[in-house]
Amino acid sequence: MPDESLLKRHRAVLPDWMALYYEEPIEIVSGAGRHVTDAEGRTYLDFFAGILTNAIGYDMAEISDAIRRQVDTGVLHTSTLYLIREQVALAERIAELSGIPDAKVFFTTSGTEANEAALLFTTQARRSHQVLALRNSYHGRAFATMAITGNRGWSASSLSPINVSYVHGGYRYRSPFAELSDADYIRACTADLRDVIETTTAGDIACMIVEPIQGVGGFTMPPDGLYGAFKEVLDEYGIPLISDEVQTGWGRTGDHFWGISAHGVVPDVMTFAKGLGNGLSIGGVVARADLVDSVNVNSISTFGGNPLSTAGARATLEYLLEHDLQANAAKQGSHLLTALRAAAEKYRLIGDVRGKGLMLGIEMVEPGTLTPSPRAAGLVLEAAKAAGLLVGKGGLHGNVVRLAPPMTLTDAEADEGLQKLLTALEQSDRELR
Ligand code: PLP
Repeated sequence: MPDESLLKRHRAVLPDWMALYYEEPIEIVSGAGRHVTDAEGRTYLDFFAGILTNAIGYDMAEISDAIRRQVDTGVLHTSTLYLIREQVALAERIAELSGIPDAKVFFTTSGTEANEAALLFTTQARRSHQVLALRNSYHGRAFATMAITGNRGWSASSLSPINVSYVHGGYRYRSPFAELSDADYIRACTADLRDVIETTTAGDIACMIVEPIQGVGGFTMPPDGLYGAFKEVLDEYGIPLISDEVQTGWGRTGDHFWGISAHGVVPDVMTFAKGLGNGLSIGGVVARADLVDSVNVNSISTFGGNPLSTAGARATLEYLLEHDLQANAAKQGSHLLTALRAAAEKYRLIGDVRGKGLMLGIEMVEPGTLTPSPRAAGLVLEAAKAAGLLVGKGGLHGNVVRLAPPMTLTDAEADEGLQKLLTALEQSDRELR
C-alpha cells in the first residue's frame, strides 16, 4: 500500500484539480539511469521520463557533477540583474542551434512562462492581441497560455486577454480531413488557415503558435511539411510563427533536433523547457532579435536563467549532443513503433498508433470503433505500473497512452518496456472483452 497519510495530506493541502496518476499514487524517492524506485521499494522503468523532463535519465554523473560544482561555489542564486556566465554561454549555444538568424534568448523557469514571453514579444511587436492556434493545443497554465489552449480539458479561452482563432491540422486522427492523403490533408488545412484568417480576424494578427507534435493533446502527428505550408501563408500576411518545442525539442523526435524542422521551415520563435533541465526548472524563448527587443518595458525573470539551472542545462545539452541522443531516439523509437503497430493489428482496443522518435502515442478506443476509451487507457496505465513500467496518459478524451522514455534508453530497456507494455495491453484487452 502507498503511504495513505501522505496522500491524505496531499489532498488536504494541494488543489483538487492536481491530477495524480494511478488509483494508488506512488511517491518516487530515487532514480538511476532509466529506472526509478518508489517509497515502497518497487522499481519501475520510466517510459515517460518524468513528464519528458528527464531527457537523459536519473542520477547521471555528468549532470549531477555540473550542478554540484555550481552548488559548491556557494552562489545558488543572486540575481539575474548581474552577469551570469552560464546563462550567456547557454544562450549562445541555443541561439546557434536554433537556426534562427540573429537570434536572442530569454530564459524562464517553465514552459508556460516561455510561451507567455513569446506571446508578449509578438503581441508587442505587432501591436495586436489576435493569435492563431491549433485545435486541441496545449501551451501552459497562465492566463494567456490557457487562452490559446484549445484542448477542452485544459482551456480557459473564455477568460482570455487574447483573441484566439483555432485552425485544423495538429490532430489528424479525429479531423474531418483524416481520410485524405498527406498532400490533400496539407492542402485542406492550409485552406482552413487562410479561411480562418480571412473570416474570423481583422487581419492584424500577432502570431501563430503550433506544437510540432501535440503533447498533452495525445502525441498527435500531422504530416511532415504541414507547418511549412502554413508558414508560406503566414509570410504573406507578415505573421510570425512560434513553434512550441517544450515537448518536441532537443532531438526527441529522432529525425531532427527541433520538431518543427520536419516541416522544412525555420520559425520566427521557438519556446522550450522540460528536457533541457533534466529535472531542473528551466524554460525559455529563442527568437528573432527584432521580436525579442520589441518589448519596450524593463523585464527580467527573477529565477529565469539562474546559475544553477543554466549550469545543469548546459551539461544536459552538451551530453545530448555529444552522445547523439537524437540518433538513439530515432533508433529506439522506430523499434518500438514497429512493435506497437504489430500490437495494433492484434488488439482491437487500439485505434491508432503514431509518433516518431521517443514520442509515441497509442489511442485507445471501444474495440473496433472510433469511440474514445479513457477506461482502456486507464487500465493499461495501471497494468503497466503493476508490471513495473511507468507510461503517460493524454489526449482530448484522456484515452491516449503516451510513451516518451529518457533518450538514453538502451536496446535492452526498450525490449523490457515493450514486454511490460504488451503484457499490460493483453491484460486490458482481456478485461474489456
Ligand atoms: N507547452 C507544451 C507543448 C507543453 O506540453 C507544456 C507542458 O506540458 C507547456 C507548454 C507548459 O510547460 P510547463 O508545464 O513547464 O509550464
